[in-house]
Amino acid sequence: MKRILIIALAFIFLQHSNAGIIKVVTTTTDMKSIAEMIGGSKVSVTSIATGYQNPHFVDPKPSYIIRLSGADLFITTGLDLETGWSPQLLTSSRNSKIQKGSQGYVDASEGISLLQVPSSVNRAAGDIHIFGNPHYWLDPLNGKVIARNIANGLERIDPSNKTFYEANLQTFFARINTKMKEWQAKMSPFKGSKIIAYHNEWVYFEKRFGLEIVDFMEPKPGIPPSPSQLVKVIREVQANKIQVIISSPYFTTSSSAVVAKQTGAKQLTMATSVGAFNSIKNYFDLFDYDIDQLIAMLK
Ligand SMILES: [Zn+2]
Repeated sequence: MKRILIIALAFIFLQHSNAGIIKVVTTTTDMKSIAEMIGGSKVSVTSIATGYQNPHFVDPKPSYIIRLSGADLFITTGLDLETGWSPQLLTSSRNSKIQKGSQGYVDASEGISLLQVPSSVNRAAGDIHIFGNPHYWLDPLNGKVIARNIANGLERIDPSNKTFYEANLQTFFARINTKMKEWQAKMSPFKGSKIIAYHNEWVYFEKRFGLEIVDFMEPKPGIPPSPSQLVKVIREVQANKIQVIISSPYFTTSSSAVVAKQTGAKQLTMATSVGAFNSIKNYFDLFDYDIDQLIAMLK
């Protein structure tokens, strides 16, 4: 009897201690990491996609809908990144607090200077970047825009803690500024290095750190490498003496391996999101990892 009472009291305590915690659901782990840094002790954050999953293609599961139905804040990368799965999950959750246009809906892409915005929207060719390149979190300075949007969302639904969120936001900005100097210094000897990428998801990273991506293994974003594309890439690698072909954890390496074998270029799997590899615990680790891996290959 005594034991039952203790368990019951512990349960009530746990429920109570969880009260007031804002439940945040993000589409990706990068948004989760930034939301945790801004929300601190006031939030509990979960991400639908893992860091080693292709964010364009996530299989919707009933458990995601349940999670969304209890969320206070929803954060999406936006654009065309999660179009195939996230809007459907959101509708199915029937949670009016987090629907598009509601207080608890955050589109993290708001205010991002988008790259590669097409002049006309055409999904017919299989292109999955119809609103511009959606992989913008791979520029650390865009991390600041994301953080600002997340702070705005938290302050909308929890205005009494505005000072707390603003302070965390300033800490985040300062940390980005410090790390940015370190990352730029590491990358500066490799300015202008030419590389090949599997999917067109590195343009923000490329621009920020002065790389030159000559071509992609995919002939169009979302379209698997074709034999003619492989021939084209092999010629480009040879003509430009390209050393590295970068890919992501969720793509098969077989086509890149063909190019590598033909040309002597090396393959490198980079991380596109937090959690892509065990050592990448947060948004800062992501760039530490990618930059260290890349410069080791370019040396
Ligand atoms: Zn993409």
